[in-house]
Amino acid sequence: MTINITLPDGTVKQFPKGTSSYQVALSISEGLARNVLAAEVNGEVWDASRSINEDASLKLLTWNDEKGKSTFWHSSAHLMAEALEALYPGTKFGIGPSIETGFYYDVDFGDRAFSSDDFKAIENKMLELAKTKSEYVRKEISKNDAIAYFKEKGDEYKLDLLDGLTDGQITFYSQGNFTDLCRGPHIPNTGFIKAVKLMSVAGAYWKGDEKNKQLTRLYAVTFPKQSELTDYLTLLEEAKKRDHRKLGKELELFAFSEKVGMGLPLWLPKGAALRERLVQFLQKAQIKSGYEPVITPHIGHKNLYVTSGHYDKYGADSFQPIKTPQEGEEFFLKPMNCPHHCEIYKTKPRSYKDLPVRFAEFGTVYRYEQSGELHGLTRVRGFTQDDAHLFCRPDQVKDEFKKVIDLVLYVFGALGFENYTAQISLRDPENKSKYIGSDENWSLAEQAIIEAAAEKGLNTVVELGEAAFYGPKLDFMVKDALGRKWQLGTIQVDYNLPERFELEYTGSDNQKHRPVMIHRAPFGSLERFVAVLIEHCAGNFPLWLSPDQYIILPISEKYADYAKSISDSLNNYDIRGLIDNRDEKIGKKIRDAEIKKIPFMLIVGEKEQEEGKVSVRKHGEGDLGSMTIESFTEIMQKEIKI
Ligand SMILES: [Zn+2]
Ligand SMILES: [Zn+2]
Repeated sequence: MTINITLPDGTVKQFPKGTSSYQVALSISEGLARNVLAAEVNGEVWDASRSINEDASLKLLTWNDEKGKSTFWHSSAHLMAEALEALYPGTKFGIGPSIETGFYYDVDFGDRAFSSDDFKAIENKMLELAKTKSEYVRKEISKNDAIAYFKEKGDEYKLDLLDGLTDGQITFYSQGNFTDLCRGPHIPNTGFIKAVKLMSVAGAYWKGDEKNKQLTRLYAVTFPKQSELTDYLTLLEEAKKRDHRKLGKELELFAFSEKVGMGLPLWLPKGAALRERLVQFLQKAQIKSGYEPVITPHIGHKNLYVTSGHYDKYGADSFQPIKTPQEGEEFFLKPMNCPHHCEIYKTKPRSYKDLPVRFAEFGTVYRYEQSGELHGLTRVRGFTQDDAHLFCRPDQVKDEFKKVIDLVLYVFGALGFENYTAQISLRDPENKSKYIGSDENWSLAEQAIIEAAAEKGLNTVVELGEAAFYGPKLDFMVKDALGRKWQLGTIQVDYNLPERFELEYTGSDNQKHRPVMIHRAPFGSLERFVAVLIEHCAGNFPLWLSPDQYIILPISEKYADYAKSISDSLNNYDIRGLIDNRDEKIGKKIRDAEIKKIPFMLIVGEKEQEEGKVSVRKHGEGDLGSMTIESFTEIMQKEIKI
């Protein structure tokens, strides 16, 4: 008996029934087979050693595939558990999944005290066990036998997990002396794991429920090469230096106050100046693209959000209503700007000739996030979206998408994000009924987005079934200077709100029609964008954005007047900066200016004053020599232009 295996490039190869993915890899090349971690068989990730008994599509997974990596890390969690059991007999195990980077295992050490001092011993044990190249052996088992195994072992967590398994095959995986309840898949053997690092330890309630026992969560990461671990740790060090929370404090950009409330950022003068410049930059570009600024209040009547559906979505789990002296009257902090903009659309009758209309607002919205979820400026409870809503005819969707893509790329370009991809999220074609809006409109919009992205030359991935129930969308992911991915801009079609708000326009046929609504935000939110920008440029903002573009450092107070005359002259050209008139040594003044990441330092002393010049130092580059104020002004103006 032979079966047909279809490879990703479309070639079909024949193999005997029962062939494993590993054997398929071996038939291609030995080198490939050595690197195969697992395989996707008909879309499902399997152990590379598992027999394939029918025709299948096959994708071999290596370290370079996300799914290969996560299989590697999840398998490493088993290895860590094996090490823990060997070192600390009687340890009980909860769950051990892979995460974005690495994996964790939730364990119960009983009465044993545990700290990061134990990390080294665990790492060493894991490496020792990895060297035995123990295979991960899959075994199908009956539920009764599985229960008997963990009863005997005395692991109530695994018994609890088994209790929740009502259907499907139960499988055990064993490697070395360790057996775990697991669906798999896993890498072929522990020998693939060459580098191990335990990262941190935290408390975690069993099943995330604080009524349950608190277990110890051990985070770790592993790699197939020692050098990859070294690179990863270097990257982490660099990321720590660029952490926007740290730089935000050092550069005096923003702060948080418990008194004001957690997750509610306070923009300090320098941060506010930077943010304001971003706003003006985008506003200027938007006005050129036909947007009309609007302003709406920070709260809205409950009825507004009942109509929009946000009341159901955010009501109980978010900030609670604001009551007024009027019996029964309730207002909500606005979680989204869209409902307000729908009401603006409705202020007058619209004709097909009026469309599209584009309302833009830097609108501040409030959403309650769990305190544990808050993180610097990236997860906050109040934030300002660079929001806009476009109302257009179905035949205008593609053009509007193209214009928004242009705007997003203009923003990315001006801010130095050169590496980005776009994800197009479409309907699940198998399940069209769960989406609102007509099939015809959906097809039209999906086609429009795909074409717009292609015509703009975007590097896209298409994800089926990832659309919101109310419309397809296009999301931009940028890669920062450290190669980390961030989701920023988004463009989203919406058939839901126009329906709920009964928005209309009069068509050329004199009939009423529903406009299509498009939500879009190139930055996403100003808070998140500034956070990403800080980490991307390590606080060295493009000159046009820098809160202070230069600092004048007089060698002594004798040159204070000369310094002032320079700053007055630069002021005339809208070049902004500071004078460091402190009674400090020039070396110290330079060091402090470097820490503040001020792009240019102008040193003035006797010689400079006599010649009417300044000695210029550029941050991160060093001495540019002495020059006239005019030459310096020219350099600045050239660099500020965007
Ligand atoms: Zn597993
Ligand atoms: Zn919106």
